[in-house]
Amino acid sequence: MIKRLIRPLLNSFNKSQRPPAINHQIIPREKHNISRRHISRSAIKVMQRLGEGGFEAYLVGGGVRDLLLGDHPKDFDVATNATPEQVKNLFRNSRIIGRRFKIVHVRFGREIIEVTTFRDNHDANSSHKDNTKHSARSEEGMLLRDNVYGDIRSDAIRRDFTVNALYYTLDHFSIHDFTGGMQDITRRKIRIIGDATTRYQEDPVRMLRAVRFAGKLDFDIDKHTATPILEQGNLLGNIPPARLFEEVLKLFMGGYGRSVLPLLRQYDLLQYILPATDDALKRQLPFTEALIEQALTNTDLRIKNNQRVTPAYIYAALLWPSVCAEQAKLQAEGLPPVQAAQQAAQNIVNLQLQATSIPKRFTQGMREIWDLQHRLERRQGKRAERTFEHPRFRAAYDFVLMREQAGEDLKGLGQWWTEYQETDENGRERLVATLGSGNSQKRRRPRRRKPAPTQH
Ligand code: ATP
Ligand code: MG
Repeated sequence: MIKRLIRPLLNSFNKSQRPPAINHQIIPREKHNISRRHISRSAIKVMQRLGEGGFEAYLVGGGVRDLLLGDHPKDFDVATNATPEQVKNLFRNSRIIGRRFKIVHVRFGREIIEVTTFRDNHDANSSHKDNTKHSARSEEGMLLRDNVYGDIRSDAIRRDFTVNALYYTLDHFSIHDFTGGMQDITRRKIRIIGDATTRYQEDPVRMLRAVRFAGKLDFDIDKHTATPILEQGNLLGNIPPARLFEEVLKLFMGGYGRSVLPLLRQYDLLQYILPATDDALKRQLPFTEALIEQALTNTDLRIKNNQRVTPAYIYAALLWPSVCAEQAKLQAEGLPPVQAAQQAAQNIVNLQLQATSIPKRFTQGMREIWDLQHRLERRQGKRAERTFEHPRFRAAYDFVLMREQAGEDLKGLGQWWTEYQETDENGRERLVATLGSGNSQKRRRPRRRKPAPTQH
């Protein structure tokens, strides 16, 4: 009888839900390469102040991971046992923000240190008496809420990958490892914490994150972490388009998009974030692969050189082959070219918006870049001058160069515009004059000649 009663309970604690075994390792200062000098002064201040307030405080996540790998972290996150309210009370320059969960932003000039309270979301493991405190899940196992506070151990195992769950403390400057992250740093492995299928069900974005970190760090994805991705990818369809937009930016504007793309294709994840691009690549549309690779290479380089990059440009490049194919299809159906170009842009943007949201200012920017591709070809009379004054001229000109780099033959269009920008007013007039009537612009309709007088 008792067995019958507890069996369903036991079953619900199945293997996949059981939290991973915890093996707490402390790596002393002399066994790791993180020096305080490499940590932002603001992050150190935050940790010190929390310590003085009687709380635990650790540097965690990408900051520790990147420092161990000898890279410059882009930001520093602190984890603590202080509640968000307690953190807020310690720092005048702080505010609680509640996106998916409550965290505190402590601001030092332009730098923001993100402080999170230790959390717990492994309800199978939790011994909380109060059930309402447990994290909520959807029917598919997706975590809807995980604002349950915990300790450093529960905090470690609710993180995504072992290499993201290392905790650095000012107390003897040691690193605390509960999931084998140090070993995975050495072996260059992305390994999910716990059962991969369950963790992807909890939050499907972790599949994109696995690929992103593998691309960024040049790590392999561990077999058990990788295997379920092909099968579970479709869960990304449950993620709000706004969150996926943020993720696309991280994938392609993080400075290593060129390494991330082949992994997205390998794990067949591109279809969920860029369906039209995925389709164009799978259909091997002309110049598609070369153009997209070129766009990502250029973007990575710009980021390395601290040059500005905009999502409008990246999305414009990722979707351009699809827009061209759509335009060709509409023209074949009888639409005139200008109308077909506009309609094609609209159709592809609409398709994209079903996968990821894109703020209006960026969709507008994309459409301007596409529209200018046609206008840059029509240079006769005053047209070149007008196009040159367009606020998006520079982006559209870069886009032309990039298309040429990718192998498209635009009959010297890029070179023409390069010269146009480098010369003076007279030079510009001469350049326009060289176009004659044989340039790529739509030829003027020949004036109708008066019919020759008929000889009587
Ligand atoms: P980077 O900032 O370089 O992209 P990061 O590892 O710092 O990488 P963030 O998105 O800033 O990534 O998240 C900070 C930390 O929070 C991660 O290192 C990880 O421990 C945890 N984390 C973030 N997103 C998730 C998630 N979806 N599931 C579980 N843990 C997560
Ligand atoms: Mg980070």
